[in-house]
Amino acid sequence: MQHHSTQPPPAYDRRKTAGNLFAKVREQSGWLIFWCIILLAGIVIEVALAMMTRYFTDEVLVQSDKSLIIPSALRIIGYVVFLVFARGVQKGGEILSTARIGQRLIMGLRQEIFDHLQRLSLDFYESQRTGRIMSWITTDVLRIRDFAGKQMPMLVRGPFEILAYLSVMFWASWQLTLTGLIVIPLIVLVVQAGAKRIRAAARNVQGTLADVSGELQEEISAIQVVKSFANEMFEILKFSKANLAAYKAEMRRAKIEAVMVPMLMLASGIGLGILLLYGARQVSEGIISAGDLIMIIVLMYKTSDAANKLGRTYMAFQDTLAASDRIFAFTEIEPTITDKPDAIELDECTGKVEFRNVSFRYDTGDYVLNDIDIVADPGNAIALVGPSGAGKSSFAKLIPRFYDVASGGVLVDGHDVRDLALPSLRTKMGIVPQETILFHGTVKENIAYGKLNAGDSEIEAAATAANAHDFILQLENGYDTIVGERGVRLSGGQRQRISIARAILKDPKILILDEATSNLDTESEKLVQTALERLMKGRTTFIIAHRLSTIRNADEILVLKAGRIVDRGSHDELMSRPGVYRELYEVEEMGTGG
Ligand code: ADP
Repeated sequence: MQHHSTQPPPAYDRRKTAGNLFAKVREQSGWLIFWCIILLAGIVIEVALAMMTRYFTDEVLVQSDKSLIIPSALRIIGYVVFLVFARGVQKGGEILSTARIGQRLIMGLRQEIFDHLQRLSLDFYESQRTGRIMSWITTDVLRIRDFAGKQMPMLVRGPFEILAYLSVMFWASWQLTLTGLIVIPLIVLVVQAGAKRIRAAARNVQGTLADVSGELQEEISAIQVVKSFANEMFEILKFSKANLAAYKAEMRRAKIEAVMVPMLMLASGIGLGILLLYGARQVSEGIISAGDLIMIIVLMYKTSDAANKLGRTYMAFQDTLAASDRIFAFTEIEPTITDKPDAIELDECTGKVEFRNVSFRYDTGDYVLNDIDIVADPGNAIALVGPSGAGKSSFAKLIPRFYDVASGGVLVDGHDVRDLALPSLRTKMGIVPQETILFHGTVKENIAYGKLNAGDSEIEAAATAANAHDFILQLENGYDTIVGERGVRLSGGQRQRISIARAILKDPKILILDEATSNLDTESEKLVQTALERLMKGRTTFIIAHRLSTIRNADEILVLKAGRIVDRGSHDELMSRPGVYRELYEVEEMGTGG
């Protein structure tokens, strides 16, 4: 499953999904046994309570010996009170054990999803709509949670409950019971016909809901673009389409249910009529007692109620299976970039990086890099320039092995990166991206992301080297100021310097700088620039340059165009001859008015 379609898989092996789900529950075998016992106890109590109606009718209501009425009533009432109390205790145990089993399952699934998200390679994130991932995690887990919290007991108890009621009824009067059951085939038919439709409708609902949350997510993350193009109306129309589709899908499901439920009730009503008619005759002929009839009516009602609930539970279970299937399908997506079984740990690293005849393409398209050959000696600075879409970012993604090459090889210290253990490779690299991502947390924590166990003095030293110390001290709470999405807003230059501090703290041998495209003011620019120079010292650096002025001192400048190196050399060499670089440079000089 390396090609991630944006639609959830339409059909799946339900048995396998149910098996997977059960395997997760089975881990809690102790609670599972307790849960089963509790459920059985519930059935026993219900049956006993139903039998009380029989005794109460025969020994109290139609008692001919008046002196026995009160003592019998008291005795039976005693039983009833005890049974009701026992049922209460049993329900408590059921609630507790159901929650324990269900919530463990949910917690496990949530954790599994999160862990898997961490394991997946970059290609997954670059090809999936984030909204859909969110939908998986929220909607589908919620669906399972609903089922596990409320309906799960019925799925197990239902069949046994029905079986128990039937046995008691047969024992009391098999003729009468059979008469009452005439309508069962009818009910089964309705349930079966409905279940299939409901299943299809439910899948549809989930798909459309995922689209809605996808649109919502996209709208929020792209709000600036939307506003700047004044395309709010267009977005509203687009969203309302998805929204309407979700509404229609929900209504279709409701309509199917709305037809099914009355049909089921009608069928059981007919059954009750026939039962009463035949039962009255049997009592009048003395074949069964009045108590038997009352008990059978009560049990018939309970049976049809249980069957109804079981039917609904079964349908909800289908929903749950569909949701589980999407989750399992997701957790089965293999990361594309993994360690070989005999991966080498890269302990010491000098920082030498080579590209040997590298060609590369994404899953989905044409080659975006062709025949790239470079050697970066330890401490060298290599700059990548070229028009947008030339392949600069793709080039940079190959060094930490975010993607694998199609042919050729990327080598670090003479090892092909595919032979190295990923963590050992990536801990040697620092990446300063265009846009600094700050996590919700303090400034200190954000810098320490580069080295999770760093001490305060180390963090401050890194911040100082990154020219960030001074502005941090001016923040309200200094290093303890909360930043990130819900925290204090920092300027672009400040964020970049935090990013640089992170990299300094990490102390990598190899550095990848994606120069920020947004223009900083000259003051901020200078601070960032000197911080970067400090950071680059003694490290092999790859700079994706958007402004040529910043890379004059690079050891080698690679000019990329349409995935090929069309020119290379130092700044002076490249300027000395006509070509793409000199053209780009002249355009930029004009643009900045220099
Ligand atoms: P640059 O950084 O020079 O602007 P990129 O490396 O980002 O260029 O892009 C090179 C080519 O690869 C472009 O044609 C782009 O559309 C394509 N590309 C970039 N990222 C992906 C991706 N995740 N999946 C598919 N194609 C991609």
